[in-house]
Amino acid sequence: MQSKQLQTSASSVAVIGGGIAGATAALHLSELGIKVTLIEKKPGLVYGPPICHLHAGGNLYREISTQQCLELLKQSVDTARLYPHTINNRPTIIAVPYADGGTPEELYERLLFIQKAYQELVNEDERNKVLGEPEH
Ligand SMILES: Cc1cc2nc3c(=O)[nH]c(=O)nc-3n(C[C@H](O)[C@H](O)[C@H](O)COP(=O)(O)OP(=O)(O)OC[C@H]3O[C@@H](n4cnc5c(N)ncnc54)[C@H](O)[C@@H]3O)c2cc1C
Repeated sequence: MQSKQLQTSASSVAVIGGGIAGATAALHLSELGIKVTLIEKKPGLVYGPPICHLHAGGNLYREISTQQCLELLKQSVDTARLYPHTINNRPTIIAVPYADGGTPEELYERLLFIQKAYQELVNEDERNKVLGEPEH
């Protein structure tokens, strides 16, 4: 009797909240064959505050390493492939304070490195081209 209850509860799950956490959990649970009901009070899924740190600011924090930036890029591309409607293309103005402890040129080098990495991801799989043309 107890095992039957466990089986029933494990094969049917309700997720409350369709932000990035709830929607992603629901997707992965359904990939496992579990029946999922996703309950969201707003009109759409993943429509809340920003969820992706790909914007230039994220990649310009000096305290994170270039390797961490690359991880961020891969995670952001994966996320954007799942939720393409969350991409918000807009111009970016970068202001670097004097107290930042480094030159703007160093950060520019990093952006070029990340751009190259994005090109490589697109070369690996055309579906990774979620952020526009790599040369842009
Ligand atoms: C202004 C702002 C800027 C941010 N910028 C960034 C950024 O640049 N990069 C970054 O990585 N993170 C950013 N964040 C943080 C990021 O948005 C959160 O970490 C992320 O959204 C959390 O995801 P979540 O799914 O846990 O929660 P949420 O996105 O808050 O999702 C929760 C969902 O549950 C729903 N819900 C709540 N109560 C109920 C209910 N009773 N019934 C049904 N549904 C319900 C809500 O409508 C919502 O859709 C920012 C946050 C804010 C506020």
